[in-house]
This record gives sequence, C-alpha cells and structure tokens, in this order.
Amino acid sequence: MAPQLDETEKPLKQHALTRAPDERLNKASSIPFLLAHLICLLAFLTGVTTTAVVLFLALYWGRMFFITAGYHRYFSHRSYKLGRAMQFVMAFGGASAAQKGPLWWASHHRNHHRYSDTDRDLHSPLKGFWWSHVGWILCDKNNGWNQDDIKDFVKFPELRWIERHDWVAPWTVALLSLYVGGWSGLVFGFFFSTVVLWHATFAVNSLAHVMGRRRYATSDTSRNSVLVALLTLGEGWHNNHHYFQASSRQGFFWWEFDVTYYVLKGLSWLGLVKDLKRPPARLLAAGRVRDGAFDMGMFKAHWSRATAAVTAARTGPAVINDVGQAEQLDRPGSEITQRELTTMIRANEASLAAHVQSTLDRAEELARLSRRERSMSVVD
Ligand SMILES: [Zn+2]
Ligand SMILES: [Zn+2]
Repeated sequence: MAPQLDETEKPLKQHALTRAPDERLNKASSIPFLLAHLICLLAFLTGVTTTAVVLFLALYWGRMFFITAGYHRYFSHRSYKLGRAMQFVMAFGGASAAQKGPLWWASHHRNHHRYSDTDRDLHSPLKGFWWSHVGWILCDKNNGWNQDDIKDFVKFPELRWIERHDWVAPWTVALLSLYVGGWSGLVFGFFFSTVVLWHATFAVNSLAHVMGRRRYATSDTSRNSVLVALLTLGEGWHNNHHYFQASSRQGFFWWEFDVTYYVLKGLSWLGLVKDLKRPPARLLAAGRVRDGAFDMGMFKAHWSRATAAVTAARTGPAVINDVGQAEQLDRPGSEITQRELTTMIRANEASLAAHVQSTLDRAEELARLSRRERSMSVVD
C-alpha cells in the first residue's frame, strides 16, 4: 500500500504562477455553491414544464444582459452613461444573477484588468484553469473588496444597500419563479439558469484566456472566442476588450456579433442609455499581431511557464522536453514536493526575479519599438 503523504509532501502540479495558502478551496463556505448545482438534479423529480423552459430562457438571457451590460460594461468600465434610476435597475438586475453585489463584482474586475496575468491577477489561468474558472471565488482571499477600487459608485447609498443585501434580488426572482412555474419553475427555471449563467460568466475569465485567437498584442493572455461570445451575448471578444476596455462595444467588426451592444444601442435610441463609447478607427488598425506587433501577453505566458518548468526541473531529476516543460523521470523520489519547491524558490527567489524582470523589461521595450514602427508606417 502506498504511504500516506501529508499536504506538503504531495506531488505538486506545475503552473506558471503558484497559489498562496489563502487561495485554497474553503470547503465549508463553498457548500451553497455546490448545493445550487445539486438542486438542479431535482428536475428529474419535478419534471420540466413548458413554463419552466420559458423561465429558464428568460432568466438566462435577461440576467446575462444585466451582467454584461450592467456589472461589466457599466459598473466595471463606465463605457456608457446611465441616469440614476437606470443605474439602480442595472445593479438590481445584475444582483439577481447571484454573483454578489455590483461593487464587489466591478472592483474585482477592475483589478483583473490592472494586473492581468501577473501574480496579483485575481483569476489568471496561469495559476490553473480550475482556479481561473471557480477556484478564485471559492477561497477566502477574495471575499472582501476595496472601496478605493470603486470610489465612483460607492458614493450611491442605493448601490451600497444592494451590496449589503445581495441576497434580496436573487431570492425575489426565485420566489417569483416558484409562483409562476411551481416547483419545476423554481428548480429548472431559476436554479438551473443560475448555475448555467455562473459557468458562462466564469468562462470569460477561464476559456477566453486560453481558447481562441489573439488579434491584438496585449500584455495578457486574453483571446477572442466565438463560443464564449455565443454564450455571453458578445463578451467572448475578450482580446478586443483587453485591448480597449473603455469600449461599450466588444465586437469591433460587423461580423463579431455583440448582442449586448445591440441592446444598448436600442436603449440609446429610447434615451435610456447615453454616450456609448467606441474605439477610434486608428486604434483598431494598430497593435495587431498579424502586422508583426510583438505579442507581449503570449511572451509573458510562455516565459512564466518556462520559468516554472526550469524551477521544477532543478528540484529533482527531470528533463525538459521539446515544448519546454519539465518531465519528471520515472524513478523513486523523482516527484517534486511542495516543500522541496518552496525551499528552492526561497533560495533563488531574488536572483530569479531580477532575471525575469530584466528580460521582461527588454521585451517590453521591444514591444514599444515595434508598435512605434508600426504606427509610423501607418502615418506614411
Ligand atoms: Zn473587463
Ligand atoms: Zn480578462
């Protein structure tokens, strides 16, 4: 029988960035999240009525709009303007998706853009796919939020009220679903749509940073994914979005469907939405990977992975394979343990960090030069 290993002796799965102790799954506080998934299975007992299907569709797409247009494009990025009543509607609608309050959501999202794919990014897939999808929400680290990150909205008492009582909106929708569609309406219409909505929203943080194409040489790993755009009313054009965050439109070209933007445009004709920001044409034409712009984001990602692989290789008998990953040799004692890795990193931290930083500085300089060259050639 294999000997039992304690936590620090378990083989470590290599990711480019490592996780801190407060970034571990909190099993107790994750119970409601898991329970919501299990409740969906009750649909086998309640059956699925036509009313429940209609509720599912209305609640999925309706609340997705409040998340994409409200929580994301308005509260996080201020890419258009709203009157105070409409602002409240967007906040309450967003809260009904059970993704916490607008201030928590937007302040964390602003952080994601500020520190994309660095150690301070809240949900970089460089810490693992599972982490970027749900791990970062199910640990203790990100429960709180910083008022300084969202000063522009924290001043509204009605938003602070929604934030403090973020359970009111989802439970209102849940009770209405029960009233309209009975138990099937509650289980399939409300709970199932909420769970699917969660994973579709999380896919922007996870899938749209690992799957799809990169048009712009941003300093993160964001990508444009048709699949994610389909699931999220146009949020899958995530590389576009990282390139020009202030835009209310994330599909930059006519073929990049962006239903959130079309609805916002419609609301602007009714006068409910104002000053929809769009990226200048000059910017859309510059910085494209296709034109030879230096792809800083992918460089950083590959560099981080290579560094992690080299670190892993140094701690035990291993070889670096032809895609730059450390392959552990199959012999006793060859597995890297958390303890060994921690000791090694502590010993080499300063020199490794300095080495990485100077390489990144040089690469960034190169990126600046190549962009300048590109913009000069556009002027010519
Ligand atoms: Zn964003
Ligand atoms: Zn992102």
